[in-house]
Amino acid sequence: MTLFASSDRTACLLAQVAVERSVDRYPDGLTYGVPAALADLRAGERVRVPLGRGDALTEGMVVRTLPADASGAPPAARLKFVESRVGGAPPMPSQLVELAQWISGYYVCPVGMTLASMTPGAVKRGVGSVTRTFIDLAPGWEDLLGAAGRVTAQQRRVTEALRDAAGAERPMDVRDLAARAELGTNEPIKRLVKAGVLREERRTSIEAEWRAERGGAGPAPELTAAQRTVVDAIGATLGGGFAQHLLFGVTGAGKTEVYMRLIAQTLAAGRTALVLVPEIALTPQTGGRLLARFPEERVAILHSGLTAAQRNQQWNLVADGKVRLVMGARSAVFAPIPDGQLGLVVVDEEHDQSYKQDQMPRYHGRDVAIRRAQLAQCPVVLGSATPSLESWFNATERKTSALHVLRERAPGLRLPHVEVVDFVEERRRFPDQRVHLLGPRLSGAVQETLDGGGQVLILLNRRGYANWIACADQRCGWIMRCDRCDAGMICHRLPAGGGAAGQYVRCHHCQGEQRLPRQCPKCARQVTVFGLGVQRVEEELARLHPSLVPGSTMLRIDADSMQDAADFHDALGKFGRGEVRLLVGTQMIAKGLDFPGVRLVGVVSADTALNLPDFRATERTFQLVSQVSGRCGRGADAGRAIVQTFQPEAPAIRLAAAHDYESFAREELAMRARFGLPPSTRMARVVVRDEGEERARELSEALARDLSAAANGAAGGGGVTVTGPMPCPIARIADRWRMQVEVVAPGPGPLGRFLTSARNAGILRPGETYAVDVDPVALM
Ligand code: ADP
Ligand code: ZN
Ligand code: ZN
Repeated sequence: MTLFASSDRTACLLAQVAVERSVDRYPDGLTYGVPAALADLRAGERVRVPLGRGDALTEGMVVRTLPADASGAPPAARLKFVESRVGGAPPMPSQLVELAQWISGYYVCPVGMTLASMTPGAVKRGVGSVTRTFIDLAPGWEDLLGAAGRVTAQQRRVTEALRDAAGAERPMDVRDLAARAELGTNEPIKRLVKAGVLREERRTSIEAEWRAERGGAGPAPELTAAQRTVVDAIGATLGGGFAQHLLFGVTGAGKTEVYMRLIAQTLAAGRTALVLVPEIALTPQTGGRLLARFPEERVAILHSGLTAAQRNQQWNLVADGKVRLVMGARSAVFAPIPDGQLGLVVVDEEHDQSYKQDQMPRYHGRDVAIRRAQLAQCPVVLGSATPSLESWFNATERKTSALHVLRERAPGLRLPHVEVVDFVEERRRFPDQRVHLLGPRLSGAVQETLDGGGQVLILLNRRGYANWIACADQRCGWIMRCDRCDAGMICHRLPAGGGAAGQYVRCHHCQGEQRLPRQCPKCARQVTVFGLGVQRVEEELARLHPSLVPGSTMLRIDADSMQDAADFHDALGKFGRGEVRLLVGTQMIAKGLDFPGVRLVGVVSADTALNLPDFRATERTFQLVSQVSGRCGRGADAGRAIVQTFQPEAPAIRLAAAHDYESFAREELAMRARFGLPPSTRMARVVVRDEGEERARELSEALARDLSAAANGAAGGGGVTVTGPMPCPIARIADRWRMQVEVVAPGPGPLGRFLTSARNAGILRPGETYAVDVDPVALM
C-alpha cells in the first residue's frame, strides 16, 4: 500500500460497518468509504475493513449504507475504505440487521458482537454439508418404464422393490433400495431417475431420521370448539401486520394442534412460519410432529446439537428461501428467512428459562421473537400452560397482547390428580433408619403403575449423586467446598456405578473435578455423602423395584447422561416404544413430552428451587410442578402425580397441585408489584467480576455511584433506581469475585433510555469485567 492510498480514492457511498472487535459504539459501528468497485454493497454483507492504527484487516458486517455526502462522515483525508467483500455466507436479511441493532441497544452488547453471534460459525466458514438421497416411484412410472425400451433385470428389481414396499417405507433411502434390489452399484437407480421412472429427493440427515421415526402423517384431529375459537381468532390476524397473542392452555390442551393449524394457514398463504421451542430437548418431539403433519414441506431444524455441516446446510436452505417451516431452539430466532417471507412466529413453552442466553448478547429469545415479528409485521403466538408472569402481565394488565385460553384438556384426556405428600410425615413412616428419597407413597405408586403396565416419570431437578460431602463426625463440621468457587462440591458416580471407587466430585459452577476424598482433611475420619441427586434416585429405584434395570428398562435423563440431541432422541424413542418403563431425570423430562403411556409422575422434591435467593423461585417451582405433572394422563387412563415436599403449604405447590395458574399469577403479581419487582418494573443487573476481592468491591462501588448519579440526574428522569453494590448470592466463581448492582425502572422504555445514556457516557462498559444482564432470569 502506498502512503496516500486512501486519499487517491473517492467514496461512492459510505458504509457503517460493525466490526466484531470494535469498541462499543451504539448504535452505528464505524464509518468507511465504499470504493466504486463495491458500489452495490448493501446492509447485511460481510466485508473486510482496515482497523486501528496499523490498519489490520478485520471482518465486519455492513449495518447501513449512506450517501457519500452524509453529514457526520469523517473528513475525506481521514476516511478509510472497505477493502473487499467476504464471500461464503449469504448476506443477512436487512430485517435481521435491524434486529441486531435493537438487541445491541436493548441488551447492551456491541453491535458487531451481536451480529457475529447471530450467524453460526459453520455458516461463516461454509462447512460442507451432508444429504441423503431418497427414491420413490414417479407418477405414471409404469408407462414410462414401458416406453423406456430395454429394461435390465436389475432395474426391474428396483421398481419391484419400491412397488412392494409398505407406504411408510417410501420414499426409500437409496442405500436401502440398492440393498433390497441386490445391486452392486447405484447405477441402475440413476438410470431410472434419468428416465423419469423414479424420482429423487434430497433430505438432510436430520430430516431423514425424524421422518423415519414418525412414519406417515397422522390425520389431523377435529378441533374442539375451544381450539376452533382460538384458531379463528389468531388466524384472523394472519396477513394483517403485527399482533401479539398469548395462548394459555393447560398441559395437554392441544396447543400444538393450534400451532399446526395456524402454520398450515401461513403456508397456504405462501409465507414462512418460524417455531421456537425451548432448548434442544424438545426439538426431536415437536420436530417429529411437524414433519409428520407437513410431509410435503421442507422443514429446517436449527439447534445446537447439529453438526457444523448440518447447521450450515440448514441455514443456507433457509437463506435461499427454500424452506417455509423453520423450527429450532433459542438461536433459531435468527434464522435468515428472507425479508418479506415471514408470516407467523410461534414461541412454544414461552415461560421457559432456556430462552434466555447467558452469554453476550444476553438476549431473551421470546422477546427477540416478538421484536422480529414486529419487524416482519406478522403475528407472534406465545404458548404455555404456565405463562411467564411477564407475558401474563402483558396480556392481562398492559393489554399489549391478546389472551386466548384453553381450559380443558384435549378430548378424552383428563388433568392428572396431584397428591402433595408432606415429606416430614412420610419419613416417620419409614420402617428403618436409612435415608430414603422416595417415600412409601411414591414408591408404592411406582410399583402399582409398573404392575399395571403403565409408564413412569420421576423428576428430581438436581444433577449428580449427592449434593453434600462432609465429615462423618458432625462435631468436626467439615464440608467439602470448591477451592475456586463459593459453593459446595457435588458427588457424581461414574456410569459403571461401582460404589465409592466410581465416585468423583465436581463443582457445578467452574466444572472443576476431583477424586472423592476418603478421609476428612481436618480430622481424618470417614467422609460421607448425603443429600439429593438424580443418580441416587436412580440407584434407589433400582433397589426398590428389581424390574427397573438402569440402562435398560429405566433410563436416566440429565445433562450428564445425555451427550447430545441424538442421545435424547434415542431415549425418548425407546420410551415411546415401551421398551423403557421409567424415566428418571432433571427438568429435561418436565418439558413438553407427550407420551400416552405415562400414568404416574413423581416429584422427589418440589423444594429444590423454592428456597433459592431469587425472586422468581416460587414462579419456577409452580412451573416445574405443573409442567411435570402435566406429562401424565395423556392416554386413555387418568394420570396420577405425587409431589414430595417439606413445604406442603407453600402456595406455589398447593396451587400447582390444584391446576390453578390464574390464582397463582394473581397472588404472585400482587406480591411483585408490592416489592417493585418485575414484571411491574423492568430490571437490569450488572455483575462486576474480578480476581481481586478488593478490586471487585471498588469497581462495583464506583459503578453504583456513577449509575446513581446518572439516575438522579437528567438521564434518570423516569424513576430509575439503583441498588448496590452487594455480593452476588454466589460470591465467587472460578476465582473471580462477583459483586452486583441492580437497576430498576418503571418500564422497558425508561430502562432502555437509561442504559443507553449510561453506555454512551462510558459508565457501562459491557465486557469481561462488567456483565450487563437486562431482564435477568437468574439472579445467582
Ligand atoms: P399441549 O401442547 O397443549 O400440551 P398437545 O398439543 O401435545 O397439548 O396435545 C395433547 C394430545 O392431545 C396430543 O396427543 C394431541 O394429538 C391430542 N389432541 C390435540 N387436539 C386434539 C383434538 N382436537 N382432538 C383429539 N385429540 C387432540
Ligand atoms: Zn468451582
Ligand atoms: Zn472431620
